[in-house]
Amino acid sequence: MGKILEVKGLHVSFTTFGGEVQAVRGVSFDLYKGETLAIVGESGCGKSVTAKSIMGLIPNPPGKITDGKILFKGSNLAALKDKDLRKIRGADISMIFQDPMTALNPTLTIGTQLVEGIIQHQKISRSEAQKKALEMMRLVGIPSTESRLKQYPHQFSGGMRQRIVIALALVCEPEVMIADEPTTALDVTIQAQILDLFRDIQKKTGVSIILITHDLGVVAQVADRIAVMYAGKVVETGTRRDIFYKPQHPYTKGLLNSVPRLDLENAELIPIAGSPPDLFAPPPGCPFVARCQYAMEVCDKVYPLKTKYGKEHHVNCWLQDERAKQMLASQR
Ligand code: SF4
Ligand code: MG
Repeated sequence: MGKILEVKGLHVSFTTFGGEVQAVRGVSFDLYKGETLAIVGESGCGKSVTAKSIMGLIPNPPGKITDGKILFKGSNLAALKDKDLRKIRGADISMIFQDPMTALNPTLTIGTQLVEGIIQHQKISRSEAQKKALEMMRLVGIPSTESRLKQYPHQFSGGMRQRIVIALALVCEPEVMIADEPTTALDVTIQAQILDLFRDIQKKTGVSIILITHDLGVVAQVADRIAVMYAGKVVETGTRRDIFYKPQHPYTKGLLNSVPRLDLENAELIPIAGSPPDLFAPPPGCPFVARCQYAMEVCDKVYPLKTKYGKEHHVNCWLQDERAKQMLASQR
């Protein structure tokens, strides 16, 4: 599978009254064509900021991409002017947010919003756009008639509204779709339906998806690969199998221990004690050191190098890294 998007060494910070928050600190990952990559982590770990950076939606000021590249079809999105980013946004890369109401205009009918979206990016007539809008509604599982297109967002249920948002994200046939907590606001049954819809759409259109979520249940259902983020860094990447069956990073293990498992009755949920580090002054070494039961001297001092565990499986942790001793010696 070829790569469609490459994020390399991305750094993003925000200037606040309290100082500079380093929200994303050297994030790198690839997105392959037709896959779903899940970016998981607790709130504040930088996953949404990473997604917004790809979309060129970091408000500047106070935010700023301070370093790194976002490569998409030969251009570095991190260096593009807003005018050029606008052309890519929606047409090549589209984004779905958690709350469907923020993406929909409450004062316009669904039909108008879909048709306008289509016309904005494609040179086709209004009647053709209308036909396409109906098609899109069907693609996302809303049996639609012209009368349905004349309805306003509030006339649809929450789950239906999220389907419409997905339709809006798909009208221009993007190659990449970024979904930030797309099911968090929905109840569990509807959540499952929306995740099914993602898989279905991916099969039909071949779109590559970046799914941002804190919910490992969601990840287990749809992700091909997973990047685990902690305190502004990716600490482990792997296939779904790697992460769920052979997690290596103590943080990943902690995350997995803190979700209910249907296959293990009476399994105890163990929340990870402590809290993430202050991103105003992140520690020089491993960001997980204060919460890690395996922490060693080197962890405090040096950020762990990347270790390869499998074809797609990478971890940043000193625990099983032979270079740890050497690294510590060089620090003394
Ligand atoms: Fe724990 Fe050290 Fe690994 Fe960080 S590098 S997760 S502190 S063992
Ligand atoms: Mg978020």
